Amino acid sequence: MSSSEYITCFYCSEYTKLAKDYPVNFASMDEKSFTPRCFLHWKYECNQCVKLIHFNGISWCSDCKEFTCLSCVEEKMVKKNFLIYDYYYNIPCKKCGKMNPGLDFAEYEGIHPYQTGEIIPSEDIVVWMPIHPEEAEVKEFPHPAWGFQRIMKIGKISDFQRLESLEEYDPKKVWDELAPTWGANWPEGGDFNHKYMILPSLYKMIDVESGDKILDVACGEGTTSRYLAKNGAIVTAIDVSDMITYATKKEEKDKLGIKYLKLNAEKIIGKFGEEAFDKVVCNMALHDINDYKTTIEQISKVLKKDGLFVFSITHPCFAWPTTTSLRVPKDSQRNEDKIRVIFDYFDERPVLIKYGKVFAPLLHFPRKVSDYISVLVKNKLIIEEMSEPKPSENLVTEFPRHTYMDYELHPHFMVIKSRKI
Ligand SMILES: [Zn+2]
Ligand SMILES: [Zn+2]
Ligand SMILES: [Zn+2]
Repeated sequence: MSSSEYITCFYCSEYTKLAKDYPVNFASMDEKSFTPRCFLHWKYECNQCVKLIHFNGISWCSDCKEFTCLSCVEEKMVKKNFLIYDYYYNIPCKKCGKMNPGLDFAEYEGIHPYQTGEIIPSEDIVVWMPIHPEEAEVKEFPHPAWGFQRIMKIGKISDFQRLESLEEYDPKKVWDELAPTWGANWPEGGDFNHKYMILPSLYKMIDVESGDKILDVACGEGTTSRYLAKNGAIVTAIDVSDMITYATKKEEKDKLGIKYLKLNAEKIIGKFGEEAFDKVVCNMALHDINDYKTTIEQISKVLKKDGLFVFSITHPCFAWPTTTSLRVPKDSQRNEDKIRVIFDYFDERPVLIKYGKVFAPLLHFPRKVSDYISVLVKNKLIIEEMSEPKPSENLVTEFPRHTYMDYELHPHFMVIKSRKI
C-alpha cells in the first residue's frame, strides 16, 4: 500500500465541515497538490467537446444521458447557499436545452449520476446520499471554507475587517488610540515607506520656496511640516487627533515657527478663510479621512489661484485592502514566495486594519483612482504630475526584504500634484 492512499480528498474534507454525515474519500488524483481530489470530485468528460472538465463546470442530463461543460454552452448563475458555496451554475444540456446544475449542486441535491446509479464509478469511492440537504445549507456567508477564506488560510495574511457603519470606530478616536504607539515611536524623517518611497516624490512636487505659506493637512507627528519649515516655508499644520501632541512637543524642543492646531480637515475654511495659502500638502492621510470630498473642496477654497495641492495616498489599486499578498509557505522570508491577491476594488466600505499586537486597529477608507480625480477636477484642481514610486537599484540592494520582487513589481503609493485654476 503506498502512502498516497492515505491522503484525503480536499473537497470531501471541506464539505464535511458543513455536512457532518459527509463521507471523506481518499484522494487518488492530484495527490501531491494543495488540493488532492477523490474520483467523485475529479473531472468528467464532456460529451460535446470530449474534454475532461472539473466537476464544478459540467452538468449531467438524465434525459439524454450526456455531460455538457460550460465551455460548450452558456452557463447561468443561480444564487443559493449550499455546502461551501453561495451560488451554482446551471449548464443547459447541449442536446435538449434542459437546464441542469453543475455537478457540485447536483451532488448536494442527490441527482449526481453516481448517486442516482445512472453511472457506476470506476473507482471504489463512498458516495454521499444527502438525507436532509437543508441542514447543510450555509446560513452565515462567507463560510470559513469558501474561496477567499480558504486562500487566506493557505498563506500568511494580515487581518482586516469591512465595516458596515462607523458607529464603533470614529476616525478621530482611532488615531487618538494609535497616537501613544504610532506617534510616539515614529522615526524622525519617516519609516522605510515614507523616507525612501513617498516623501522624495512629495517634496519634489511641493517644490518649497522661502516664504511659501503652506498648510499641512492631517500633519500627524509633523515630519512633513518640519521639512517644509526648515526649507523656509511659513507652515500651519492641523490634525484632528492626539497625534498632534507629538508634533507640538517637538516644536517646543526645537522651534521652527510651525503653527499647530487641533482641527478637523473638513473644517479648514471656517478657520482660515478663502485663498489663505500658496500650497497645501497632505501626506498619507486622505485615505484615513472619511469625508474626503468636503476636505478637498475646502482645500481648494483655502488655496490662492495657481496654488498647489500635493498629496500622497496608499495606491488604490495595489495596496490594502484592494490588493494583499500571502506567502506560501506562510513563514517564508523571501518575496518570490508571495502571491498577490486582489479582493474587491469597488468595495468602498471602511476597513479596519489590524497590524498585530503593538498598534491599535487602523481605519482606512478605500476609494477608486477615479474618485480622487473626479473630486479634484470638480474643485478646479488640475493634475500636473503623478508619481507611483518605484525603488532604485541601490535601494533594492540595501533593503531587499522590502523591495526585491515586491515594491519592484508594483507601486504601493501614489503621489499627486494638482494646481488650482
Ligand atoms: Zn471528494
Ligand atoms: Zn464541453
Ligand atoms: Zn438533455
